[in-house]
Amino acid sequence: MAEQETLYDAFLDELRDAYDAEKQLTKALPKLAKAASSPDLREAFETHLEETREQVSRLEQVFELLDERAKGKHCDGIAGIIEEGKSVLEEDFSDEALDACLIASGQRAEHYEMAAYGTLIAWARVLGREDAAKLLEETLEEEKAADKKLTALAEGGINERAAEEARADDESEEEEEDEEDEEAAESQPVRRTASTSGAKRASSR
Ligand code: FE
Ligand code: ZN
Ligand code: FE
Repeated sequence: MAEQETLYDAFLDELRDAYDAEKQLTKALPKLAKAASSPDLREAFETHLEETREQVSRLEQVFELLDERAKGKHCDGIAGIIEEGKSVLEEDFSDEALDACLIASGQRAEHYEMAAYGTLIAWARVLGREDAAKLLEETLEEEKAADKKLTALAEGGINERAAEEARADDESEEEEEDEEDEEAAESQPVRRTASTSGAKRASSR
C-alpha cells in the first residue's frame, strides 16, 4: 500500500502555493499601482510590492530551513482574485470609483494571504518548526498591515470622494429636469414628472 501523505506534505503544498501566490502578486501589484489615481494609494501598492518581493525570499528561507527545494505550485485562489481585479480595469470607471475598486481588489488578496499564512503558522508550530513559524509570522504581520493601510485609505477619503462624485453626477443629470419641475410645481403641483423626480431624489439619499 502506498504511503499516505501527512500534515507535513500538506504544509509543504501550502508553502508552495504561497510561494506561487507571492510571485503572481509581484506581477499584479505594479498594475494596480499604475492604475491608481490617488498618489497615496499608488504609494501603498508600491510599498507592498517591495514587501512582497521580500516575502518571496522569506519563503525561500523557509524551504531552506526545511531542507526542501523552493518550488511553486500554481495558486488558483490568488489567480482568481487577480483576474477579478483585471476585469475592473477593463470597465469604464471614473478615477474616483476605480480607486475604490482597486482597494477592494487589494483587500481580497490580503485577506486570502492572511488566511494562508495563518494556516501555515499553525501547522509549522504543530509540526515543531518554530523557526519556520517565526519567519511566516513576519509575513503575516506585513499582510495585516497592508490590509489596514488600504482600509485607512478607503475610509480616509477615497470612498467619500467616489461617493461625492457619484452624487454630483446624479445631480447634474437631474438639474435641468428639476428646474422645469419647480416652475411646473408652482402652477401644477401634481404634475407627474415632479413627483417621480422627487421620489427618486429622496430614495437616493
Ligand atoms: Fe504577500
Ligand atoms: Zn492558493
Ligand atoms: Fe500581500
